[in-house]
Amino acid sequence: MNITDIRDLSIKVEGNIANAFVSFAEHDISLVAIVSDVVRNGKPLVGYAFDSIGRFAQGGILRERMIPRLRRAKPESLLSDDGKLFDPARVLATIMRNEKPAGHGDRAAAAAAIELAVWDLNAKILDVPAHVLISQAFGVKGKPDGIEVYAAGGYYYEDGQRTLEDELKEYAAMGFTSFKMKIGGASLKQDLARIESALKVVDGDGSRLSVDANGRFDLKTALAYAEAIAPFKLRWYEEIGDPLDYELNRRVAEVYAGRIATGENLFSTQDVKNLALYGGMRRGLDYFQVDPGLSYGLTEFGATIAMLEEQGFDRAQVHPHGGHMINLHIAAGLGLGGCEAYPGVFQPFGGYAPECGIGGGTVRPTEAPGFGLEQKRELAPWLEKIIA
Ligand code: MG
Repeated sequence: MNITDIRDLSIKVEGNIANAFVSFAEHDISLVAIVSDVVRNGKPLVGYAFDSIGRFAQGGILRERMIPRLRRAKPESLLSDDGKLFDPARVLATIMRNEKPAGHGDRAAAAAAIELAVWDLNAKILDVPAHVLISQAFGVKGKPDGIEVYAAGGYYYEDGQRTLEDELKEYAAMGFTSFKMKIGGASLKQDLARIESALKVVDGDGSRLSVDANGRFDLKTALAYAEAIAPFKLRWYEEIGDPLDYELNRRVAEVYAGRIATGENLFSTQDVKNLALYGGMRRGLDYFQVDPGLSYGLTEFGATIAMLEEQGFDRAQVHPHGGHMINLHIAAGLGLGGCEAYPGVFQPFGGYAPECGIGGGTVRPTEAPGFGLEQKRELAPWLEKIIA
């Protein structure tokens, strides 16, 4: 069994939207295809994956460092002990050869795209959905019947044509029951008015509405918002300050009784361990939003969850950032607390295939082999193009 080709493609993300910190207009994503010599229905099996949403493609790192290392590796060095599957951990070790520890950055996303493509390929070799393989590989009971999902959006509108309320009502019509909105892109007073208008869509039930500051606040602003939003009893207060400012997170957790969610911009088990140890994260309450597609893939993500459980946290407190098919299979396979959805935005990668059936606040992976990316209508043409 052998890898015969590895390709990558940088694809621009559609949807001209912004959060408190960045505009997504320039963002692109790396799609990776690993072509094998395993033939099924007359065609070689191909594993596909992409690094997650919200940062940039890593064509340079992939083409100049990681893909050449994979091409140079002895084929048998990339296989599992029984030789029946490719070994994601061995592939990861191969593409990370000669890389220093820490300083993770974009390299963590580049590595994730390759590592996750191995999982897609393995599931296709076994002819099972990726969540089934993931549950088996990590020896856990998954949640194949559905994962709690929420609609992430709640952007800023300036033209007066469309309002935040309009946006959330559209998500409700699609079957979502809880929502997340941006804060920090306006004054506290304006944001409080926005939160109050969003609460109308959830009948005033704060447990169905989260707010995301996208890492924007300094300590003073973080504490001012914490005090001001506390009476709403919101679902969670997300990525409050700089993602590496564990002191700020801890100070907010000391005074804010509601749930804090963070971690989407931490790219290694060690970084998340520091958050768990020094960030004031509370057992049984706060959420870790580490995104496997930004942080070396599923091998590292599995280690992160094991570490969190050792520290006394529950995997139900892990809600990965990144609302797409890959993270749906990972959340279902590992039995995590929930996942995110970006209805209509970040195409062709964001969101789920129609067969996933969003409704009643849950989303379900399909029975298609692998991550089922082929079922995602907007993405399917790119999967053809990358191997053409
Ligand atoms: Mg966020």
